[in-house]
Formats: sequence, C-alpha cells, structure tokens
Amino acid sequence: MPTQFSKKKVAIPAANSSAGKSTTSPTSFKKPRIGSAKSRKRDIPEGVWTKCPKCTTLLIDKELDANLKVCPRCAFHFTIGARERIHSLVETCSFQEMDADMLSVDVLGFTGVAAYTDKLDEYQKSTGLKDAVITGIGQISKHRVALGVMDFAFLGGSMGSVVGEKLTRLIETATEKSLPILIISASGGARMYEGMCSLMQMAKTCGALAYHAKSKFPYISVLTNPTTAGVMASYATVGDLIIAEPGAMIGFAGPRVIKDTTQSELPAGFQTAEFLLERGLVDAIVARRDMKERLSSYLDFLMEGVRQRTAG
Ligand SMILES: [Zn+2]
Repeated sequence: MPTQFSKKKVAIPAANSSAGKSTTSPTSFKKPRIGSAKSRKRDIPEGVWTKCPKCTTLLIDKELDANLKVCPRCAFHFTIGARERIHSLVETCSFQEMDADMLSVDVLGFTGVAAYTDKLDEYQKSTGLKDAVITGIGQISKHRVALGVMDFAFLGGSMGSVVGEKLTRLIETATEKSLPILIISASGGARMYEGMCSLMQMAKTCGALAYHAKSKFPYISVLTNPTTAGVMASYATVGDLIIAEPGAMIGFAGPRVIKDTTQSELPAGFQTAEFLLERGLVDAIVARRDMKERLSSYLDFLMEGVRQRTAG
C-alpha cells in the first residue's frame, strides 16, 4: 500500500509540472521535496561514507582515512591496509621493501568452490598487493627495524607459503643485521588452499624467531583485529613484547567452536584484546594514534638493554 501511494506522488507532479508550476497545488508542493532529496544524495554519494559497526555513526571516508581508520566518535578501530599502516609508522621514505615480487604457487592444484589461482588473481587485482604481507626495513624514530605488516584484505590475511617465506627472510635478515623485529598481524590463520605447505609456515617462522632470540635482539608483535588461528598460534604470540589494538579479536578457534566443544558458556569479552591483557597474554593495549610513539619508546627501552648487554 505505501509503495503504491508514493508511486502516484511521483507520477502526478511529472504530468502537472509543465501545465502550471506557480499554482500551490499539492503536486507542486511535492515536487521540490523530491528534488531536495536528490541533491542531498548528490552531497553524499554512495561509497564515500562508512557506517561504524560499533556506534552506527555515518563517517565520511576521507575523514576516517585522516583519522587512521579509527571512528572519531567511539574509537572503533577499522581494518587498515598494510601500506597505510607502514606509512603511519615509519619515517618518510625510510622503508625499503623486501621480496616485493614473491608470488604464491598453486602447489595442490586446488579447485573447489573457487580455484586458488582465480582467488589469487582476484585479490591481487582488488588489493594491488602480491600477497598478504609486506616486509622490509624501515625507520621508527631513531631505530632501524625489520618490519612485517599483514593485510587482512588479501584473502583474509591468510598465511600461505609466501607469507611464511617473506616473514622468515625478514627475521633472518634482522638476525644477520642485528635489528629489532616488528610484525603487525591481521589474519584469519593458515591458508587452506595450500594445505600442509601453509601449516609448516608456523614452525618455519617460529624456528627463525628462536634463532633471532638467541641474538638477544628484540621482537615486538602487534596483534590487530583479527589475529586468529595459525598466525595466533605461531609468530604472533611469541614476541618479547605483545601489543594489541583496542577491541581486537584474538584467539585460536572461533568462539562457537569452543562453546560447542567445551559445552560451557564463554565469559564476557572472551577473545578480545582487553580479556587477554587481564590474563597476561597481551602486555599492552595501544590505540592506533599512539602506536608509533609507544613503539618508539619500547624500542628505546629494549635497544638500550641490548646495548648494555653487548657493552658488558
Ligand atoms: Zn563508532
């Protein structure tokens, strides 16, 4: 019923408008209302704003970008791309990317609901990335740092052979050059398209980190929303310092699986950064706008420790 009514409202002014605009009939009253609705739409075209999932405020994308993808109203931390993240952390022009052209190979010839090669093509086009991590050496304040940043937009930040290999090479370079390591995770876990080859990246990255730990140079792990499964169960949670962004979901299996398996109610806030801070897995929760400054002071502290040990 209401749809029929509104259709009539649109049709009538269109027919009458040419006959006499100046008359104050109900039809001429309705027409400007339709027009003004259109101009409002023109002011905020679609794809230019984003609704905050926490406070439901409509946020202009440009303003959201300028605020490092954090809601100015409720401080909800949206997912941020790897390149934007690197840009927000390192000194201008200091980042030298490593293994930028390393590409995933479809070792299993995976075909299912979607072929792996098609998925790779699709995500390479949509993100402009080659795979789900960017690695390289950059400078944060006065410290040169081996930096690895995952991008959730590429196949859910899943860890395949390329992610594992790029991170391992980064860690080995850091050990060789006596640099601290900073890895920022955002991942749904291991990449199922690569089966076993994906799972072995957990051991490979952790093996390289164990060698790095022997060198006494620090490794800082930053967990962002979400950091789960195989990534959470390997390099993301073996940092000398483990930092999380506010509200980040961090866990191994999903809450529903745990609830079904344990047959018990899960505590409030289960698998959030705040929950894990209380229980000691996370050392600090740092808001995105403070991240660079805090990382810089952590590096000051940790690198001074290294300096004193090597001097002594
Ligand atoms: Zn919000």
